[in-house]
Amino acid sequence: MTGFRALTFDVGNTLLRCDPPPAEIYAAALGRHGRPVTAAEVEPVFAAAWTELQTRTPPGVDRYGALPGGERMWWGAFLREVLARLDHEADWRPLLDDLWAAFARPEVWRLYPEVRPTLEAARRRGLRLGVISNWDRRLPEILGHLGLTGCFDTITVSAIEGLEKPAPAIFERTLARLGVAARQAVHIGDSPLEDYRGAEGVGMTALLVDRSEDFACDGYRTVSRLDQALELL
Ligand SMILES: [Mg+2]
Repeated sequence: MTGFRALTFDVGNTLLRCDPPPAEIYAAALGRHGRPVTAAEVEPVFAAAWTELQTRTPPGVDRYGALPGGERMWWGAFLREVLARLDHEADWRPLLDDLWAAFARPEVWRLYPEVRPTLEAARRRGLRLGVISNWDRRLPEILGHLGLTGCFDTITVSAIEGLEKPAPAIFERTLARLGVAARQAVHIGDSPLEDYRGAEGVGMTALLVDRSEDFACDGYRTVSRLDQALELL
């Protein structure tokens, strides 16, 4: 692969992860508001509720703008789904306030170790760098706390744009802000649909971050760490 002028990155499970895992944060909060539950009990429920909420908005539609009350009410709907599936008695509104604060703590978001050196190396090569993330409006603040804001030429957040990956327009807007054509840009992310297919759909080159080698046999162009992407360019 040669001739690339820009790299764009997904955020969740590409640049950073939540540590402790979300199921642990939810379990701790549920225990503060009623019956104690373990992270092991929450984890499958969390995944099922996420899948359920995904189906309520078509791919590409901004989920966080889909409900009256915006992203906070989206997280409220998600939480009510979790509570119902756990048959947990907690009052969702104060619990939502608690969880909102828990995920706003900058220390729960951890960069993967190779991220900063990879971004610096890409910058030294003269590449333009961007973020394209399906996230709520709190993402810029999280990236700021991690000292990443200055690493990117542009940061595109679905809740602010009003549309999500894999919608072509969220990629196209970012490319326009970076001043590059799709064929000059590579997008790196961990979602086969939102990242890989979305980027390919607008003519970008796509790389799937596959840290656990879940997709090794599925025909995707994969890397297990972000620095491998630079070796391919
Ligand atoms: Mg992701």
